[in-house]
Amino acid sequence: MSSVFDQIISKEIPADIIYETEICLAFRDINPKAPEHILIIPKKPITKLSEAKPEDLQLLGQLMLAVGEVARILHVDEEGFRVIINNGRNAGQTVFHLHLHLLAGRRFDWPGL
Ligand code: AMP
Repeated sequence: MSSVFDQIISKEIPADIIYETEICLAFRDINPKAPEHILIIPKKPITKLSEAKPEDLQLLGQLMLAVGEVARILHVDEEGFRVIINNGRNAGQTVFHLHLHLLAGRRFDWPGL
């Protein structure tokens, strides 16, 4: 089933894209929970982390490396940031296309936000 993120990947709907490669896209969250709130998504439509397969191993690594790239673009790599993946209903996942939240620009409690 396609999600709103598929439409962002295909540029059918606009997004504030800050980083893009052949395999992933990073754009600003429409409802930010921190001064900087970026979503990093694979272009491949994996619904959630627990649906990733062994053949997605390299892709998952590339998404992790994309986090660092985005943090450097935002200049938050030194001060720090938080990365969150909501997986499924109990975690509050609302968009069923794998995405990493990168939150930055303030301090975060642990656990919690
Ligand atoms: P999650 O709750 O982990 O599934 O996160 C989904 C995120 O997508 C939420 O933080 C939403 O604010 C965000 N979101 C939903 N639609 C859009 C959109 N069109 N552009 C940017 N972010 C979006």
